[in-house]
Amino acid sequence: MKEFEEEEESFRDRVSTIAEDGKRLWVYPKRPQGKLFKYRNLTAYFLLFVFFITPFIKVNGDPLMLFNILERQFIIFGVVFFPQDFHIFVLSMITFIVFVVLFTVIFGRIFCGWICPQTIFMEFLYRQIEYFIEGNHSHQRKLDDRSMDFDKLWRKTLKHIVFYLISLVTVYFFLAYIIGMDSVLEHISAGPAANPAGFIGMLIFAAIHYLVFAKLREQVCIIICPYGRLQGVLLDRNSILVSYDYKRGEPRAKYNPLEDRDKAVKGDCVDCNSCVLVCPTGIDIRNGTQLECINCTACIDACDNVMDRVHKPKGLIRYASERSIAEGTKLKFNIRILFYSVVLSGLLILIGYLFSIRTDIESTILRMPGSMYQEYDSLHYSNIYTIRLINKTRRDLPVELLIDEKDGFIKMMGGPLMVAKGQVGKATFLLVMEKSMVTKSLTEIEFKVMSNGREMDEIEATFVGPNALDAGKARESE
Ligand code: SF4
Ligand code: SF4
Repeated sequence: MKEFEEEEESFRDRVSTIAEDGKRLWVYPKRPQGKLFKYRNLTAYFLLFVFFITPFIKVNGDPLMLFNILERQFIIFGVVFFPQDFHIFVLSMITFIVFVVLFTVIFGRIFCGWICPQTIFMEFLYRQIEYFIEGNHSHQRKLDDRSMDFDKLWRKTLKHIVFYLISLVTVYFFLAYIIGMDSVLEHISAGPAANPAGFIGMLIFAAIHYLVFAKLREQVCIIICPYGRLQGVLLDRNSILVSYDYKRGEPRAKYNPLEDRDKAVKGDCVDCNSCVLVCPTGIDIRNGTQLECINCTACIDACDNVMDRVHKPKGLIRYASERSIAEGTKLKFNIRILFYSVVLSGLLILIGYLFSIRTDIESTILRMPGSMYQEYDSLHYSNIYTIRLINKTRRDLPVELLIDEKDGFIKMMGGPLMVAKGQVGKATFLLVMEKSMVTKSLTEIEFKVMSNGREMDEIEATFVGPNALDAGKARESE
């Protein structure tokens, strides 16, 4: 019995794609077919369309999305973020991570199978080209096993050229998300001679991208991806995963159309291996939850097709939690889900609040360091201030400063104030107040920062005057 258990669990001793001698086992997955694969196709081609079209979309002359790390400018759905908004950006990223964690606790690795760019590029772009050029899984295996001939040479050469060209196009689109499509088109139309270093850099990035999809493939999900590595701590018995219903499927036995399986006390699994043949990570889902499984659902489709043929109900492999299979129960709302939900709601409220108080212009007004009040004329005192303005938009903005008329008037030095897009502007100005209004040594003043008739910000500052006693004496002597 002990020997049997050891043999049963031996698949856990090594990664499915590494042979006992340590060599890589190349995976030749069969092309999946079925209802879920159709939905995944629709999802994948929609996401690819979004990926390739987004860099061309502009909002008010700016890209819809931009992640310009070099110049520290980010545009997300047309909203411009500058370094001053970094806290919102970081909070949004944290919220996204909490969302992914919460989603994983409940729905397992569904993100990997349906949305992850690695899966979408691999299964719906590169793999489809491979099927087109080299044929289905069995043809690919035979092609690799045989020695080089003309047929193998042209198929392999064509495949790798197409792979590399797609990689080159893709990295240019990735670049468009960093520097904008206009700059990318300028770079391309100028030709490699205009910027040889940049062009060589793109060729190198394209080569890395090509290697990921031509060589590394499922190793990214199994060994490299940190999200994949986190599954062990995120999943529990209530998480919904692609699972094999061992209660219904075992004991497995080959199909015999003349036999009544119920009477023969055999499970519904006909041990046809179809679920293994389609798996892009080369595992057997009947061994239970494994770190290699990316929840791509290919085995669900494969098994459903088999169940149809042997006249058994579909769903021997399905989305289900370990608990629901073992105990026949439904998903339970546990403490961990509650905790993540509360944290996620709190973060969403905080981000909403920060967005609501976010202004296009951020301003600070400071009295000139070391300065006191000045006699402006016989009736007025003045204070000198500097204003610092950050224009967080992608257009130049004229700025005007206003105060309540009873408080006095403002004299800008250097003419009207204009702050260039994405830049910091500075100016100096005098605030002039009637002496009769200066009854305290520090008078509170409220400035309004206006642009194009719209109030952008409100800032409080103080006006320094002679202390109350001095001011009274001064008025008496007048
Ligand atoms: S076991 Fe099934 S769901 Fe998991 S990776 Fe393989 S085919 Fe996809
Ligand atoms: S496809 Fe279904 S019936 Fe065939 S081996 Fe896999 S689980 Fe068993």
